[in-house]
Amino acid sequence: MDHLWTPWRRSYIEATNRSEESPCIFCRAIERPDEENFVVFRGEHNFAMLNLYPYSTGHLMVAPYLHVSRLNESADEVTAEMMRLARRAELVIEEVYQPHGLNMGLNLGEAAGAGIAGHIHLHVLPRWKGDANFMTVIGNTRIMPEAIETTYAKVRAAFQQPR
Ligand SMILES: [Zn+2]
Repeated sequence: MDHLWTPWRRSYIEATNRSEESPCIFCRAIERPDEENFVVFRGEHNFAMLNLYPYSTGHLMVAPYLHVSRLNESADEVTAEMMRLARRAELVIEEVYQPHGLNMGLNLGEAAGAGIAGHIHLHVLPRWKGDANFMTVIGNTRIMPEAIETTYAKVRAAFQQPR
């Protein structure tokens, strides 16, 4: 799975090093207005935001408000809501993008491929048949057939609907 989970890692680390505010992109997103970091939903304990360096259009992440690096540092209600938001994300991405499948995953620790290892986040990634093969051919070039602002408007609207 390395080829699948690493493309955005470098960009994240570079973005993080450039920041003069909170060194963590998730903590920064929590503090700032939704639009600045493409936050699509805020729950009680977790929030969802678009990945600025998506592997594919619609790639989003669900993270707790607390800056913790392990699932076991989160209370039950936090991880339970994280999974509820994952379910919501599944519906939203299916509705907006009609993918052939979805990847969901947690990378815990740098060795596991986490770009931001200090703050757990669940990747939600729409997949289409053949997309991985295509990615292999073009290497690090990302497929972004849609402007992130457009993705944000669509996904945010779908997330806000009662489900
Ligand atoms: Zn953080």
